[in-house]
Amino acid sequence: MSDCIFCKIIKKEIPADFALEDEQIVAFKDIKPSAPIHYLVVPKEHIQSIGHLENNHKDVVSKLIFTAKELAEKSGLKGYKLVFNVGREGGQIVDHLHLHLMGGWVNRLDK
Ligand code: AMP
Ligand code: ZN
Repeated sequence: MSDCIFCKIIKKEIPADFALEDEQIVAFKDIKPSAPIHYLVVPKEHIQSIGHLENNHKDVVSKLIFTAKELAEKSGLKGYKLVFNVGREGGQIVDHLHLHLMGGWVNRLDK
């Protein structure tokens, strides 16, 4: 999607603070964090939202969650929130599927 901001980040056309990347997924820091640690875990495939998932997306959705878990552990988080906003009424602003990983309010292990 040429006008999608997350597709542009994935293609490195605009910068982001990447935490990890593999063939299916990227994770980068949220530009306007709502928590001391706030990452977005994003599939490289342009899928609009949870509401647009099809059966062939089961692997990628599983990967989003496992990647968030890995990133939380790497960040020293003992507990955290994982959030999908779905559609405008669900607070979704960027129409490219993403999982918010938020934490670090309490019990940081690395500080
Ligand atoms: P949502 O409301 O679930 O669509 O969340 C979109 C998130 O993307 C928000 O938390 C924004 O702060 C974040 N965001 C928007 N543009 C960028 C960007 N260029 N780099 C990193 N995060 C972004
Ligand atoms: Zn996109």
